[in-house]
Amino acid sequence: MALIVQKFGGTSVGSVERIKAVAHRVAKWRGAGYQAVVVPSAMAGETNRLIGLAREIQPSPDARELDVVAATGEQVTIGLLAMALQSLGVAAKSYTGAQVRVLTDSAHTKARILQIDEERLRADLEAGIVPVVAGFQGVDAAGSITTLGRGGSDTSAVALAAALKADECQIFTDVDGVYTTDPRIVPEARRLRSVTFEEMLEMSSLGSKVLQIRAVEFAGKYRVRLRVLSSLTAPDISIDEESASGTLITYEEDEKMEQAIISGVAFNRDEAKITVAGVPDRPGIAYAILGPIADANIDVDMIIQNASVAGHTDFSFTVHRNDYEKAMSIVRKVIPHIGAKDVIGDSKICKISMVGVGMRSHVGIASKMFRTLAEEGINIEMISTSEIKISVVVDEKYMELAVRVLHRAFALDQPQ
Ligand code: ASP
Ligand code: MG
Repeated sequence: MALIVQKFGGTSVGSVERIKAVAHRVAKWRGAGYQAVVVPSAMAGETNRLIGLAREIQPSPDARELDVVAATGEQVTIGLLAMALQSLGVAAKSYTGAQVRVLTDSAHTKARILQIDEERLRADLEAGIVPVVAGFQGVDAAGSITTLGRGGSDTSAVALAAALKADECQIFTDVDGVYTTDPRIVPEARRLRSVTFEEMLEMSSLGSKVLQIRAVEFAGKYRVRLRVLSSLTAPDISIDEESASGTLITYEEDEKMEQAIISGVAFNRDEAKITVAGVPDRPGIAYAILGPIADANIDVDMIIQNASVAGHTDFSFTVHRNDYEKAMSIVRKVIPHIGAKDVIGDSKICKISMVGVGMRSHVGIASKMFRTLAEEGINIEMISTSEIKISVVVDEKYMELAVRVLHRAFALDQPQ
């Protein structure tokens, strides 16, 4: 019998009505002969509310206690959902992360899953019971409740699917799949029927909020068949229709052969750029600049160093906008020691990326991208590439224009 793990996000369980609709959807799959494990998030807004309560008491809450509080949102939805299923005549049983034993490390608020004891769930499944397992939470070796980071119930679902060797992990959300770009910026954006795991990983790390990036990494590692689909369709649409809806994350590139070279345009406004000008060209300079940045726990994204002219070069990198001021003050302290001339910062930038596995086998993608931007008079400030991605930094005022023209230039609005 095929086994599916179905994850429902906060909006999908945002009210009693919605929870009942989720139960109908699950019951439909059960009725069609599938075994199902269901993983809900907390009701929409609930996790924020809980964290807010904690902050009213401690401005930076004790991480262990914060997890105790934040994890309660999912404890509510598992119980309600199990009841809703029972009301439809579907045997169901709720489990917290600790009850299953989703064992994690002790990094409170961003714990990693180490192991899942799946025997109990398997016994339920064999007995025809639908286990309803709390997303986002686990327990460490000492028995303390942990949470997996915001959006973590995606990861819970994928990890359960991996542990149970499920046939598919379905992530139900309030969008109906992964799009070529954000439809709020480009109304012609198209839903992708499939996207490769690597593309999804790039898109998630580039700011697409559809799936938590850790969930994508997990799915890739354990080759979980993953599908993103809408919980807003009628709960009683046919199983065939539902199984073909949304976006499937694939692992075989062959499936992509007939498809576009580029899968999507991603963008991100959260970065800021720092340029150290007139840096002496000698060993140890990159380390002298970025060492203290790393020591301050600041993530660096793009890094560019020019070829040196007359023994000097310029060195630029980007950080998250929230870390911008801190990074600037660190670099200002460093430059007298390395003999650099100046440091210039710009927090009004954005990063735009084209993603597609087809780049591996096609030339001219970068030049077409640069031409398209040039034709609109958009200046490129930084460029970085990987095998399946080209990213540029441009002035943030051009963001929407750049996304729109690139989307059109690469015919992403045309049916696959
Ligand atoms: N409820 C948690 C959050 O809001 C986990 C999740 O929704 O995936 O971050
Ligand atoms: Mg969520």
